Amino acid sequence: MSLAAPFAAPFAAALFCDVAVAPAFVRLPRLRTSVGGEDGAGDEPVFRHGGPRIRARSASAGGGRASLAVSQLRRRKEGGSSATRGCAALSSGNGADSRRVSGGDFVVVSFYRFVRVENPEEEVAKHLAFLKDLDIHGRIYLNAQGINAQYSGPLADARSYFEWLRENDRFSDILIQISPALSGHAFPKLKVQFKPLVQVDGGIAHLPLLNTSMRATPLEPSEWKKRVVALSRSRDASSGNVDSDCIILDLRNGYEWDIGHFQGARRPEVDCFRSTSFGLSETEVNDSDPLADVNKEKTDVLMYCTGGIRCDVYSTILRKKGFKRLYTLKGGVSHYLENEGPVEWVGNLFVFDSRLSLPPAAYNPRSATQTCDLQHAIKNEKFAKCYLCGSVVQELRHRNCANLDCNLLFLCCPDCVSSFRGCCCSTCMTAPRLRPVLPGHQRYEKWHLYRDLEIQPS
Ligand SMILES: [Zn+2]
Ligand SMILES: [Zn+2]
Repeated sequence: MSLAAPFAAPFAAALFCDVAVAPAFVRLPRLRTSVGGEDGAGDEPVFRHGGPRIRARSASAGGGRASLAVSQLRRRKEGGSSATRGCAALSSGNGADSRRVSGGDFVVVSFYRFVRVENPEEEVAKHLAFLKDLDIHGRIYLNAQGINAQYSGPLADARSYFEWLRENDRFSDILIQISPALSGHAFPKLKVQFKPLVQVDGGIAHLPLLNTSMRATPLEPSEWKKRVVALSRSRDASSGNVDSDCIILDLRNGYEWDIGHFQGARRPEVDCFRSTSFGLSETEVNDSDPLADVNKEKTDVLMYCTGGIRCDVYSTILRKKGFKRLYTLKGGVSHYLENEGPVEWVGNLFVFDSRLSLPPAAYNPRSATQTCDLQHAIKNEKFAKCYLCGSVVQELRHRNCANLDCNLLFLCCPDCVSSFRGCCCSTCMTAPRLRPVLPGHQRYEKWHLYRDLEIQPS
Protein backbone atom coordinates (compact mmCIF):
# COMPACT_ATOMS: atom_id res chain seq x y z
CA MET A 1 0.00 0.00 0.00
CA SER A 2 1.35 3.37 -0.79
CA LEU A 3 1.55 6.26 1.56
CA ALA A 4 -0.80 8.19 -0.62
CA ALA A 5 -4.15 9.69 -0.10
CA PRO A 6 -6.45 7.23 1.67
CA PHE A 7 -4.36 7.68 4.75
CA ALA A 8 -5.53 10.90 6.13
CA ALA A 9 -3.19 11.31 8.89
CA PRO A 10 -3.68 12.46 12.36
CA PHE A 11 -0.02 12.09 12.55
CA ALA A 12 0.97 15.57 13.06
CA ALA A 13 4.16 16.90 11.92
CA ALA A 14 6.17 19.70 10.97
CA LEU A 15 9.25 19.71 9.05
CA PHE A 16 11.96 20.94 11.23
CA CYS A 17 15.38 19.66 10.81
CA ASP A 18 18.68 21.08 9.94
CA VAL A 19 20.29 17.74 9.56
CA ALA A 20 21.83 17.85 6.20
CA VAL A 21 22.24 14.87 3.98
CA ALA A 22 25.83 15.73 3.65
CA PRO A 23 28.97 14.00 4.76
CA ALA A 24 29.00 15.94 7.97
CA PHE A 25 25.42 15.73 9.18
CA VAL A 26 26.42 17.16 12.47
CA ARG A 27 24.20 20.17 12.74
CA LEU A 28 21.88 19.21 15.48
CA PRO A 29 18.21 19.65 14.86
CA ARG A 30 16.43 22.60 16.33
CA LEU A 31 13.43 20.45 16.70
CA ARG A 32 9.98 21.55 17.49
CA THR A 33 7.17 19.28 18.17
CA SER A 34 4.43 17.35 16.61
CA VAL A 35 3.13 13.96 17.42
CA GLY A 36 3.25 10.44 16.26
CA GLY A 37 2.86 7.01 17.65
CA GLU A 38 5.51 4.87 19.11
CA ASP A 39 7.75 2.02 18.46
CA GLY A 40 5.48 -0.75 17.47
CA ALA A 41 2.70 0.08 19.82
CA GLY A 42 -0.83 1.02 19.14
CA ASP A 43 -0.37 4.54 18.00
CA GLU A 44 2.03 3.95 15.22
CA PRO A 45 1.55 6.73 12.70
CA VAL A 46 -1.01 4.94 10.66
CA PHE A 47 -2.15 7.48 8.22
CA ARG A 48 -5.80 7.72 9.01
CA HIS A 49 -8.55 10.16 9.78
CA GLY A 50 -9.22 11.14 13.31
CA GLY A 51 -8.09 13.73 15.71
CA PRO A 52 -4.61 14.70 14.82
CA ARG A 53 -2.73 15.43 17.95
CA ILE A 54 -0.61 18.23 16.77
CA ARG A 55 1.48 20.03 19.26
CA ALA A 56 2.58 23.54 18.86
CA ARG A 57 5.41 24.67 20.96
CA SER A 58 7.69 27.57 20.60
CA ALA A 59 11.16 26.46 19.76
CA SER A 60 13.45 27.47 22.49
CA ALA A 61 15.82 24.59 22.48
CA GLY A 62 18.93 24.73 20.45
CA GLY A 63 21.62 22.36 19.46
CA GLY A 64 23.14 22.34 22.90
CA ARG A 65 20.40 20.28 24.35
CA ALA A 66 20.50 17.97 21.42
CA SER A 67 24.02 17.05 22.28
CA LEU A 68 23.03 15.56 25.59
CA ALA A 69 25.13 12.53 26.23
CA VAL A 70 22.86 9.75 27.28
CA SER A 71 25.59 7.53 28.59
CA GLN A 72 26.78 10.34 30.80
CA LEU A 73 23.28 10.83 32.00
CA ARG A 74 23.17 7.25 33.13
CA ARG A 75 26.50 7.38 34.85
CA ARG A 76 25.41 10.44 36.71
CA LYS A 77 22.27 8.66 37.73
CA GLU A 78 24.19 5.85 39.33
CA GLY A 79 25.99 8.36 41.54
CA GLY A 80 22.71 9.89 42.62
CA SER A 81 23.30 11.72 45.90
CA SER A 82 20.48 13.97 46.91
CA ALA A 83 22.57 16.92 45.86
CA THR A 84 23.10 15.61 42.37
CA ARG A 85 19.74 13.98 41.96
CA GLY A 86 18.04 15.53 39.02
CA CYS A 87 21.25 16.75 37.48
CA ALA A 88 23.07 15.33 34.55
CA ALA A 89 26.12 15.94 32.56
CA LEU A 90 25.75 17.47 29.18
CA SER A 91 28.43 17.22 26.68
CA SER A 92 29.13 19.54 23.87
CA GLY A 93 29.24 18.09 20.42
CA ASN A 94 32.90 17.25 20.64
CA GLY A 95 32.59 15.75 24.08
CA ALA A 96 35.37 17.92 25.35
CA ASP A 97 33.63 20.21 27.77
CA SER A 98 30.89 19.01 29.98
CA ARG A 99 28.54 21.11 31.96
CA ARG A 100 25.78 20.41 34.34
CA VAL A 101 22.18 20.85 33.52
CA SER A 102 19.29 20.76 35.86
CA GLY A 103 16.67 18.10 36.20
CA GLY A 104 14.32 20.50 34.51
CA ASP A 105 15.72 19.68 31.10
CA PHE A 106 13.40 17.50 29.12
CA VAL A 107 14.24 14.02 27.99
CA VAL A 108 12.42 11.24 26.22
CA VAL A 109 12.55 7.84 27.88
CA SER A 110 11.58 4.48 26.49
CA PHE A 111 11.61 0.96 27.85
CA TYR A 112 9.70 -2.25 27.56
CA ARG A 113 9.72 -5.67 29.10
CA PHE A 114 7.84 -8.85 28.54
CA VAL A 115 7.07 -10.24 31.95
CA ARG A 116 4.04 -11.78 33.59
CA VAL A 117 1.90 -9.14 35.26
CA GLU A 118 -0.68 -10.72 37.54
CA ASN A 119 -3.19 -7.94 37.87
CA PRO A 120 -2.44 -5.58 35.04
CA GLU A 121 -5.40 -3.32 35.61
CA GLU A 122 -4.39 -2.82 39.21
CA GLU A 123 -0.90 -2.16 37.95
CA VAL A 124 -2.23 0.55 35.65
CA ALA A 125 -3.85 2.22 38.64
CA LYS A 126 -0.61 2.04 40.62
CA HIS A 127 1.36 3.62 37.81
CA LEU A 128 -1.22 6.34 37.38
CA ALA A 129 -1.12 7.07 41.09
CA PHE A 130 2.64 7.36 41.05
CA LEU A 131 2.67 9.52 37.94
CA LYS A 132 -0.03 11.95 39.00
CA ASP A 133 2.41 14.33 40.66
CA LEU A 134 5.00 14.13 37.93
CA ASP A 135 5.24 16.14 34.75
CA ILE A 136 5.19 13.15 32.45
CA HIS A 137 3.56 12.88 29.03
CA GLY A 138 3.59 9.78 26.91
CA ARG A 139 2.17 6.35 26.35
CA ILE A 140 2.53 3.62 28.89
CA TYR A 141 0.88 0.34 28.08
CA LEU A 142 0.53 -2.48 30.55
CA ASN A 143 -1.08 -5.85 30.31
CA ALA A 144 -0.55 -9.43 31.42
CA GLN A 145 2.48 -9.66 29.09
CA GLY A 146 4.42 -6.73 30.50
CA ILE A 147 4.99 -3.05 29.89
CA ASN A 148 5.86 -0.79 26.97
CA ALA A 149 6.54 2.87 27.71
CA GLN A 150 7.63 5.97 25.88
CA TYR A 151 7.37 9.26 27.66
CA SER A 152 8.83 12.72 28.00
CA GLY A 153 9.36 14.95 30.97
CA PRO A 154 11.88 16.94 32.90
CA LEU A 155 14.84 14.73 33.66
CA ALA A 156 14.13 14.62 37.38
CA ASP A 157 10.55 13.46 36.87
CA ALA A 158 11.44 11.10 34.06
CA ARG A 159 14.02 9.50 36.29
CA SER A 160 11.73 9.27 39.29
CA TYR A 161 9.36 7.11 37.32
CA PHE A 162 11.84 4.58 35.99
CA GLU A 163 13.67 4.42 39.30
CA TRP A 164 10.38 3.64 40.97
CA LEU A 165 9.79 0.90 38.41
CA ARG A 166 13.26 -0.51 38.99
CA GLU A 167 12.53 -0.96 42.67
CA ASN A 168 10.47 -3.93 41.58
CA ASP A 169 12.73 -6.96 41.12
CA ARG A 170 11.16 -7.88 37.82
CA PHE A 171 12.27 -4.56 36.36
CA SER A 172 15.47 -3.92 38.27
CA ASP A 173 17.67 -4.53 35.22
CA ILE A 174 15.33 -3.17 32.56
CA LEU A 175 17.07 -1.33 29.73
CA ILE A 176 16.15 2.33 29.96
CA GLN A 177 16.78 4.41 26.88
CA ILE A 178 17.02 8.17 27.17
CA SER A 179 17.31 10.75 24.44
CA PRO A 180 17.09 14.52 24.38
CA ALA A 181 13.60 15.96 24.09
CA LEU A 182 14.91 19.15 22.51
CA SER A 183 11.90 21.36 23.11
CA GLY A 184 9.74 20.32 26.00
CA HIS A 185 7.33 17.44 25.90
CA ALA A 186 7.50 15.12 22.93
CA PHE A 187 4.01 13.76 23.58
CA PRO A 188 0.77 15.70 23.94
CA LYS A 189 -0.47 14.10 27.15
CA LEU A 190 -0.11 11.10 29.42
CA LYS A 191 -1.87 7.86 28.64
CA VAL A 192 -1.46 4.89 30.94
CA GLN A 193 -3.56 2.09 29.58
CA PHE A 194 -4.35 -1.56 29.85
CA LYS A 195 -3.86 -2.65 26.27
CA PRO A 196 -1.63 -4.79 24.04
CA LEU A 197 1.99 -3.73 24.13
CA VAL A 198 2.27 -3.90 20.36
CA GLN A 199 -0.39 -3.93 17.69
CA VAL A 200 -0.13 -6.79 15.26
CA ASP A 201 -2.86 -8.23 13.06
CA GLY A 202 -4.25 -11.22 14.88
CA GLY A 203 -3.14 -9.84 18.23
CA ILE A 204 -0.23 -10.90 20.39
CA ALA A 205 -1.99 -12.31 23.44
CA HIS A 206 -1.55 -15.85 22.11
CA LEU A 207 2.17 -15.44 21.39
CA PRO A 208 4.68 -16.99 23.81
CA LEU A 209 6.39 -13.65 24.34
CA LEU A 210 7.49 -14.48 27.86
CA ASN A 211 9.49 -17.43 26.58
CA THR A 212 12.82 -15.95 25.57
CA SER A 213 13.75 -19.05 23.58
CA MET A 214 10.90 -18.23 21.23
CA ARG A 215 12.30 -14.82 20.49
CA ALA A 216 15.30 -13.84 18.41
CA THR A 217 18.68 -14.08 20.12
CA PRO A 218 19.57 -10.55 21.22
CA LEU A 219 22.93 -9.25 20.05
CA GLU A 220 24.69 -6.56 21.99
CA PRO A 221 25.40 -3.48 19.85
CA SER A 222 29.08 -4.42 19.65
CA GLU A 223 28.23 -7.90 18.35
CA TRP A 224 25.75 -6.45 15.90
CA LYS A 225 28.41 -4.08 14.64
CA LYS A 226 30.78 -6.96 13.98
CA ARG A 227 28.12 -8.78 12.01
CA VAL A 228 27.06 -5.83 9.88
CA VAL A 229 30.64 -4.76 9.23
CA ALA A 230 31.53 -8.29 8.14
CA LEU A 231 28.49 -8.38 5.87
CA SER A 232 29.43 -5.06 4.37
CA ARG A 233 32.93 -6.30 3.63
CA SER A 234 31.62 -9.43 2.02
CA ARG A 235 29.28 -7.31 -0.10
CA ASP A 236 32.19 -5.17 -1.20
CA ALA A 237 34.32 -8.20 -1.94
CA SER A 238 31.63 -9.79 -4.03
CA SER A 239 30.71 -6.60 -5.86
CA GLY A 240 27.41 -6.13 -4.12
CA ASN A 241 26.17 -9.69 -4.03
CA VAL A 242 24.56 -10.37 -0.73
CA ASP A 243 25.74 -13.17 1.49
CA SER A 244 22.95 -15.69 1.09
CA ASP A 245 23.58 -17.13 4.54
CA CYS A 246 22.80 -13.87 6.25
CA ILE A 247 20.22 -11.17 5.75
CA ILE A 248 19.66 -7.84 7.48
CA LEU A 249 15.95 -7.39 8.01
CA ASP A 250 14.58 -3.93 8.66
CA LEU A 251 11.42 -4.60 10.62
CA ARG A 252 10.17 -1.05 10.58
CA ASN A 253 8.07 0.81 8.03
CA GLY A 254 9.18 2.01 4.66
CA TYR A 255 8.93 5.66 5.58
CA GLU A 256 11.30 5.05 8.50
CA TRP A 257 13.83 3.40 6.20
CA ASP A 258 13.54 6.41 3.88
CA ILE A 259 15.39 8.68 6.27
CA GLY A 260 17.82 6.19 7.78
CA HIS A 261 18.70 2.50 7.84
CA PHE A 262 21.50 -0.04 8.05
CA GLN A 263 23.50 -0.49 4.92
CA GLY A 264 22.40 -3.63 3.15
CA ALA A 265 18.88 -3.66 4.57
CA ARG A 266 16.14 -3.66 1.99
CA ARG A 267 13.42 -1.08 2.23
CA PRO A 268 10.45 -2.73 3.94
CA GLU A 269 7.41 -2.23 1.75
CA VAL A 270 5.21 -1.75 4.78
CA ASP A 271 3.34 1.34 5.95
CA CYS A 272 2.10 0.00 9.23
CA PHE A 273 3.93 -2.52 11.36
CA ARG A 274 0.78 -4.31 12.40
CA SER A 275 0.29 -5.60 8.86
CA THR A 276 3.84 -6.84 8.40
CA SER A 277 3.80 -10.28 6.83
CA PHE A 278 7.43 -11.03 6.02
CA GLY A 279 8.11 -14.75 5.93
CA LEU A 280 4.54 -15.73 6.63
CA SER A 281 3.37 -16.92 3.25
CA GLU A 282 3.55 -20.70 2.85
CA THR A 283 2.95 -20.68 -0.86
CA GLU A 284 3.24 -17.41 -2.73
CA VAL A 285 6.62 -15.94 -3.43
CA ASN A 286 6.19 -12.23 -3.07
CA ASP A 287 8.96 -10.01 -4.41
CA SER A 288 8.32 -7.48 -1.69
CA ASP A 289 8.94 -10.08 1.03
CA PRO A 290 12.60 -10.01 2.04
CA LEU A 291 12.20 -13.43 3.63
CA ALA A 292 10.52 -15.03 0.62
CA ASP A 293 13.55 -17.01 -0.53
CA VAL A 294 15.29 -17.34 2.77
CA ASN A 295 16.31 -20.77 3.99
CA LYS A 296 14.56 -21.01 7.35
CA GLU A 297 17.07 -23.51 8.71
CA LYS A 298 20.33 -22.02 7.53
CA THR A 299 20.04 -18.31 7.02
CA ASP A 300 20.94 -15.91 9.81
CA VAL A 301 18.24 -13.27 9.96
CA LEU A 302 19.59 -10.12 11.62
CA MET A 303 16.52 -8.11 12.45
CA TYR A 304 16.32 -4.61 13.81
CA CYS A 305 13.82 -1.94 14.74
CA THR A 306 13.89 1.35 16.63
CA GLY A 307 13.91 0.16 20.23
CA GLY A 308 13.72 -3.62 20.01
CA ILE A 309 10.13 -4.44 20.85
CA ARG A 310 8.90 -5.00 17.32
CA CYS A 311 11.66 -7.54 16.73
CA ASP A 312 10.90 -9.35 19.96
CA VAL A 313 7.29 -9.75 18.94
CA TYR A 314 7.83 -10.53 15.30
CA SER A 315 10.65 -12.97 15.88
CA THR A 316 8.23 -15.03 17.98
CA ILE A 317 5.91 -15.13 15.00
CA LEU A 318 8.78 -16.18 12.73
CA ARG A 319 9.87 -18.88 15.18
CA LYS A 320 6.45 -20.37 14.94
CA LYS A 321 6.89 -20.34 11.18
CA GLY A 322 10.07 -22.38 11.40
CA PHE A 323 12.82 -19.75 11.23
CA LYS A 324 15.71 -21.07 13.26
CA ARG A 325 18.49 -18.52 13.12
CA LEU A 326 16.95 -15.28 14.31
CA TYR A 327 19.00 -12.48 15.84
CA THR A 328 17.94 -9.07 16.94
CA LEU A 329 19.71 -5.86 17.82
CA LYS A 330 19.29 -5.51 21.57
CA GLY A 331 17.68 -2.20 22.41
CA GLY A 332 17.21 -1.47 18.72
CA VAL A 333 18.86 1.22 16.65
CA SER A 334 18.65 3.82 19.38
CA HIS A 335 20.74 1.66 21.71
CA TYR A 336 23.15 0.91 18.89
CA LEU A 337 23.69 4.55 17.96
CA GLU A 338 24.31 5.40 21.57
CA ASN A 339 26.89 2.68 22.04
CA GLU A 340 28.55 2.27 18.67
CA GLY A 341 27.71 5.40 16.74
CA PRO A 342 26.44 5.20 13.17
CA VAL A 343 28.72 2.39 12.00
CA GLU A 344 27.04 0.95 8.90
CA TRP A 345 24.06 3.20 9.58
CA VAL A 346 23.07 5.92 7.13
CA GLY A 347 20.88 8.91 7.84
CA ASN A 348 18.69 9.67 10.83
CA LEU A 349 16.51 7.58 13.07
CA PHE A 350 12.77 8.01 12.75
CA VAL A 351 11.17 8.26 16.18
CA PHE A 352 7.50 7.94 17.07
CA ASP A 353 7.05 11.17 18.92
CA SER A 354 7.01 14.84 18.13
CA ARG A 355 10.69 14.88 17.21
CA LEU A 356 10.05 12.57 14.26
CA SER A 357 13.70 12.21 13.41
CA LEU A 358 16.96 12.30 15.31
CA PRO A 359 20.51 12.37 14.00
CA PRO A 360 22.95 9.82 15.42
CA ALA A 361 24.66 12.64 17.28
CA ALA A 362 21.58 13.03 19.46
CA TYR A 363 22.33 9.59 20.86
CA ASN A 364 26.06 9.83 20.94
CA PRO A 365 27.85 13.18 20.62
CA ARG A 366 30.93 11.46 19.32
CA SER A 367 28.91 10.66 16.23
CA ALA A 368 29.10 14.31 15.36
CA THR A 369 32.68 13.84 14.36
CA GLN A 370 32.03 10.71 12.36
CA THR A 371 31.41 11.03 8.72
CA CYS A 372 29.12 8.77 6.87
CA ASP A 373 29.07 7.88 3.25
CA LEU A 374 25.54 8.67 2.24
CA GLN A 375 26.24 8.62 -1.44
CA HIS A 376 25.70 4.91 -1.75
CA ALA A 377 22.36 5.10 0.04
CA ILE A 378 21.28 8.12 -1.97
CA LYS A 379 21.58 6.07 -5.12
CA ASN A 380 18.61 4.10 -3.89
CA GLU A 381 15.45 5.39 -5.43
CA LYS A 382 13.67 5.86 -2.11
CA PHE A 383 16.24 6.91 0.45
CA ALA A 384 16.19 10.63 1.23
CA LYS A 385 14.04 11.35 -1.79
CA CYS A 386 11.25 13.84 -2.19
CA TYR A 387 8.06 11.81 -2.47
CA LEU A 388 6.83 14.17 -5.16
CA CYS A 389 9.73 14.74 -7.53
CA GLY A 390 12.32 12.22 -6.43
CA SER A 391 15.08 14.72 -5.82
CA VAL A 392 17.38 14.34 -2.84
CA VAL A 393 16.07 16.06 0.25
CA GLN A 394 18.49 17.84 2.50
CA GLU A 395 16.36 17.53 5.58
CA LEU A 396 15.80 13.97 6.72
CA ARG A 397 12.47 14.77 8.28
CA HIS A 398 8.94 14.24 7.14
CA ARG A 399 6.29 16.94 7.05
CA ASN A 400 2.51 16.83 7.01
CA CYS A 401 0.36 17.61 4.04
CA ALA A 402 -1.16 21.08 4.33
CA ASN A 403 -4.57 19.60 3.60
CA LEU A 404 -6.02 19.24 7.06
CA ASP A 405 -8.11 16.28 5.95
CA CYS A 406 -5.11 14.47 4.54
CA ASN A 407 -2.25 15.33 6.87
CA LEU A 408 -0.09 12.73 5.20
CA LEU A 409 3.40 12.45 6.51
CA PHE A 410 5.82 12.70 3.64
CA LEU A 411 9.30 13.75 2.63
CA CYS A 412 9.36 16.82 0.45
CA CYS A 413 11.97 19.02 -1.12
CA PRO A 414 11.72 22.82 -0.80
CA ASP A 415 10.79 23.26 -4.46
CA CYS A 416 7.85 20.88 -4.15
CA VAL A 417 6.78 22.44 -0.86
CA SER A 418 6.52 25.65 -2.77
CA SER A 419 4.92 24.38 -5.96
CA PHE A 420 2.47 22.04 -4.22
CA ARG A 421 1.82 24.64 -1.48
CA GLY A 422 2.79 22.19 1.23
CA CYS A 423 0.49 19.47 -0.08
CA CYS A 424 1.31 15.88 -0.84
CA CYS A 425 -0.37 15.84 -4.27
CA SER A 426 -2.30 18.01 -6.68
CA THR A 427 -5.61 16.65 -5.41
CA CYS A 428 -4.88 17.90 -1.93
CA MET A 429 -4.07 21.32 -3.34
CA THR A 430 -7.74 21.75 -4.20
CA ALA A 431 -9.04 20.47 -0.87
CA PRO A 432 -11.37 22.77 1.08
CA ARG A 433 -9.45 22.94 4.32
CA LEU A 434 -5.94 23.91 3.46
CA ARG A 435 -3.58 25.17 6.07
CA PRO A 436 -1.05 27.81 5.13
CA VAL A 437 2.28 26.63 3.83
CA LEU A 438 4.76 26.79 6.60
CA PRO A 439 8.45 27.35 6.18
CA GLY A 440 10.32 24.14 6.68
CA HIS A 441 11.32 25.01 10.17
CA GLN A 442 7.86 25.52 11.48
CA ARG A 443 5.01 23.24 12.17
CA TYR A 444 1.30 23.44 12.28
CA GLU A 445 -0.57 24.61 15.31
CA LYS A 446 -2.89 22.36 17.19
CA TRP A 447 -5.28 20.53 14.98
CA HIS A 448 -8.42 21.89 16.57
CA LEU A 449 -7.39 25.42 15.66
CA TYR A 450 -7.78 24.50 12.01
CA ARG A 451 -10.55 21.95 12.31
CA ASP A 452 -13.49 24.30 12.08
CA LEU A 453 -11.94 26.89 9.89
CA GLU A 454 -12.41 27.49 6.23
CA ILE A 455 -8.88 28.21 5.25
CA GLN A 456 -8.39 29.42 1.76
CA PRO A 457 -5.24 28.70 -0.14
CA SER A 458 -2.86 31.58 -0.09
ZN1 LIG B 1 10.41 17.55 -4.79
ZN1 LIG C 1 -2.30 15.30 1.08
